[in-house]
Amino acid sequence: MIKIYNTLTKKTENLGKNSNINIYICGVTVYDYSHIGHARSFIIYDTLIRYIRYLKYNIFFVRNITDIDDKIINKSFLTGKTVKSLTQKFIKFFREDTKKLNLIEPSFEPKATIFIKDMIFLISNLIKKEIAYISKTGDINFSINKFYNYGVLSNRIISKQKNIKKEIIDFALWKRNFNVKEIYWNSPWGNGRPGWHTECAAMILYYFKKNVHIHGGGQDLIFPHHENERAQCESITDKKFVNIWMHIGQLNIEEKKMAKSSNNHILIKDFLKKNNEEYLRFFFLLSNYNKSINYKNINFESSKKSLVKLYKFCNNNKSNETNILSNVLKEFNHALSTNFNTPKAIAVIFKLLKKKDISLKLKAFNIKYLCNILGLLKHDSNLFISENNKKFFNIPRVNKLIKIRYIARKNYNFNLSDRIRKILMKFGFYVEDKKIN
Ligand SMILES: [Zn+2]
Repeated sequence: MIKIYNTLTKKTENLGKNSNINIYICGVTVYDYSHIGHARSFIIYDTLIRYIRYLKYNIFFVRNITDIDDKIINKSFLTGKTVKSLTQKFIKFFREDTKKLNLIEPSFEPKATIFIKDMIFLISNLIKKEIAYISKTGDINFSINKFYNYGVLSNRIISKQKNIKKEIIDFALWKRNFNVKEIYWNSPWGNGRPGWHTECAAMILYYFKKNVHIHGGGQDLIFPHHENERAQCESITDKKFVNIWMHIGQLNIEEKKMAKSSNNHILIKDFLKKNNEEYLRFFFLLSNYNKSINYKNINFESSKKSLVKLYKFCNNNKSNETNILSNVLKEFNHALSTNFNTPKAIAVIFKLLKKKDISLKLKAFNIKYLCNILGLLKHDSNLFISENNKKFFNIPRVNKLIKIRYIARKNYNFNLSDRIRKILMKFGFYVEDKKIN
């Protein structure tokens, strides 16, 4: 049975015995390219889904697309493009990224703007229940004092804080629009658009009639987004609607928070031009999903070597083996079932690699079997290794080696020149010597 840390209860909890698992992940807001911080979150959930499927659960998985939001409207003003053309462009790029990252496709990937009617219906019901009210500005706000334990998910118990004005804390469900140039929809409360938190709440209530087993997103979404989603959904259904709130830690780049202004903003599309997606998956799986991690080039390069090592070992020991080592599998399952401890699961694989009392072929089969569960070693091993070599032995590097070899030969150091010739040959570069003048 798999246990996952629940942000709401602050405990590690069982996923349950139900063979059908509902998962909702907050997707991207489509106003810009996605970066590798987004990739971390999506890769972790993808690996979790692969693992839960391996355990023979049926998965119903929804990941939304936020295609109306303040950030999108601002970008539309700045670029002079319509909201629709802007969001269409970035949805296309997002889908290219997810394909290149080898992510399992969701059962549904709804766009928020398709659900405006559902959002209006949701808000009307909250007004009927006297949980929502019309503010002075014409927006419809959610009254957080009407929700019995607002702030518990994010550890902000609002009712205990003093001097908080209602208007500051209550959040907008519907934003009234007075600017005709801005995008808007008709509603019983005038022209306007939904608040971001209402978008997800309406989509969740539409797709999951009973409940969501896992609701996910980055830790930056806990407050206010998930707190506000939860307040709306539970106010409507009068019951708990998410079993486990699971959140992914932040990704920093070279010790700094990723930001365009810091020049450490790595986009998925740029990253994958230079690197196979599995390197990124492997790198992320080496850390606990709920911890903040630091991307350092030096660490990434060393993790790449470890993955290549696994590829090479399996490539050199191909066989028709089918025997699964039950003790190893048990240890691997134990790691993943204990709050999805992927670094521990990978440690089990490397422990197996070092094991001396079993045949190489049996080892290779079991390593590949376990890696495949995590979405690793999925590529043709010959191709993967040769591509890695090509990238390592790029032209400047090869030229440098040829130069060193030339000097070695001039100094009659044939031992070194021969070693370099052999290395280059191993990676597909044949050196032919002419007489030295
Ligand atoms: Zn959401």
